[in-house]
Amino acid sequence: MPFNRPVIIVILLIVLALFSLQRCRGEEGGEVRRSRIIMGTVVEITALGPDPARLDAAVSAAFDEMARIETLMSPHVVGSDIARLAPPVSEAVVAPETAAVIALGLQVAEASGGAFDMALGGLKALWAIETDQPRVPEAEQLRTALADTGPGALRLDGTRVVKAAPGLAVDLGGIAKGYAIDRAVAILAEAGIARASVNAGGDLRLLGDRGDRPWRVGIQHPRKSGAVLATLEMADTAIVTSGDYERYFEQGATRYHHLFDPATGYPARLSQSVTLVAANAALADALATAVFVLGPERGLALLEQFPGAEGVVIDAQGTAHVSAGLKERVQWR
Ligand code: ADP
Ligand code: MG
Repeated sequence: MPFNRPVIIVILLIVLALFSLQRCRGEEGGEVRRSRIIMGTVVEITALGPDPARLDAAVSAAFDEMARIETLMSPHVVGSDIARLAPPVSEAVVAPETAAVIALGLQVAEASGGAFDMALGGLKALWAIETDQPRVPEAEQLRTALADTGPGALRLDGTRVVKAAPGLAVDLGGIAKGYAIDRAVAILAEAGIARASVNAGGDLRLLGDRGDRPWRVGIQHPRKSGAVLATLEMADTAIVTSGDYERYFEQGATRYHHLFDPATGYPARLSQSVTLVAANAALADALATAVFVLGPERGLALLEQFPGAEGVVIDAQGTAHVSAGLKERVQWR
């Protein structure tokens, strides 16, 4: 059964709408919480502060900024930087910020030994996991989709993206949402907001704390829908999760999800979920995907190359592996 995202999004929106009825509360401080669908995900922004009108305007501007990033980096938006790189084009000049996101992605690609790969657009289209008709491809199709991917598939020459072969399809699905979250936080901060949370379907970044306490963030149980496996109390950080329960279909006893191992062309098998903590959400997003593919041992070793990055990996058996810097902070349920 394909995972029915539209229905879940509608249910989430109703719940969030009910929540936002109680928008302003507290004596000294107000709270504005609003949600909007961007990048195919319910994005919820919570902003705290004394002036509700100012919070409201800042939240609107933050949503608009995320929509702008979607327009720039979505492969489905005609004329976007990524659409302009679609086959059979072999190179294109992109916006400086798209180039910066790709540069960060290339850094994670290299550090992860190719586990993170932004040239898997063809593979993603072949599996069609996020559509109504996902399928398990033939070995020959997988070979074709993987041709020319891997190290050197994409190269940056200033703001010019050069593909190793015209047939490659660029996919920023593993990093662009994180970047959009970072931009939303930047817009809120520029508007003078000191405390906020930007949550895009469970990928989030926190600005400041909640005033009297840190933000409390739940880690979703990868096998019990709606259940919280653990909580983290954090401030001023990004917390991003990649899970095999987010977008998948099942055939026989096998779950086929949207996080691909570039070495095989199949969904990666070593993890159920990875929750990544890092200073910014673009890095956390890319690292979460890379660590998911690498699995607990190689994945947590990868994080040592990125100071400040910490993670919780739930492996294929459901066992948790926590990086050293996070061990004290995770509260298990
Ligand atoms: P979500 O968007 O559901 O939060 P992730 O941030 O984990 O999930 O990113 C998943 C997306 O990343 C996939 O839909 C696909 O576009 C892309 N992707 C899948 N496998 C890889 C990979 N090995 N390297 C880079 N990007 C990938
Ligand atoms: Mg990711």
